[in-house]
Amino acid sequence: MLDFIKKTLLKHNIELVGALKLCDCRITRPYKLRNFCESEYNSLSAIVFAVPYLSRYNDKNISAYAAPRDYHLFFKGLFTELTDALIKEFDGAKFECFADNSPIDERHAAALCGLGMLGDNGLLITEKYSSYVFLGEIITDYPIQTKKNEIKYCLKCGKCQLACPMASIGECLSSLTQKKGELTANEANAIKKYGSIWGCDICQEICPFTLRAKRKGTIYTEVDFFNEELIPILTSDKINDMSEEEFSHRAYSWRGRGAVTRNLKIMEGKESQNA
Ligand code: SF4
Ligand code: SF4
Repeated sequence: MLDFIKKTLLKHNIELVGALKLCDCRITRPYKLRNFCESEYNSLSAIVFAVPYLSRYNDKNISAYAAPRDYHLFFKGLFTELTDALIKEFDGAKFECFADNSPIDERHAAALCGLGMLGDNGLLITEKYSSYVFLGEIITDYPIQTKKNEIKYCLKCGKCQLACPMASIGECLSSLTQKKGELTANEANAIKKYGSIWGCDICQEICPFTLRAKRKGTIYTEVDFFNEELIPILTSDKINDMSEEEFSHRAYSWRGRGAVTRNLKIMEGKESQNA
């Protein structure tokens, strides 16, 4: 099954894949494993993979993960394809696919699988794509070969903390841009000063692993979905021109149009910032 999954993922240019015994993972949301009995946990495995998402563009005013369409759409399509294929190939085996809302600590599992190292910026850092990856998992009762690696950690150079514009304020700019309602003058100033309509990539961009992967040119994704329909620069006109359906395909849609529209007004120096 592992080779089968690897081949399917490779068709989408996803090559970072590893497998682990579930009992080696940190189970953080056991209720997500409801399709498996607790008594079978010891015989379950987790196949973990990293999907690169950074595409090439010159400028942006939103976090890189939000420039393409919502990654949940990508995983939905991928998991439908994988599930259909696995049902046909492995009759009787149980499997469940997850991304983001996983029963296990994804970064810890990916590090144990040897896909990358744990970064002080809170992200999994891979050699090829640095931290610009989404993680996905397939949990299965099918017997597969697993390998638990020593966890590796980043350089701990402190550059990400030093570069963080919000370190003294104690609130991440990324969460601030996603807040609902009116922002305080200080919060609005932070958005204006650091020029982000949605999210923040500063602690990723400054990391030596990101700079190295950019220099080598390995950092960019070859996954079609993440190179299509890119909107790296958001403007009020772009948001207003989007149909409800187009807007719902964007990672920032879960907050409604209010939060991004407010942030754009702040950036564009318009007075009202109602969200
Ligand atoms: S900037 Fe330095 S400390 Fe921060 S994640 Fe990268 S290597 Fe680790
Ligand atoms: S995302 Fe931005 S604001 Fe948040 S911790 Fe990283 S550098 Fe700081």
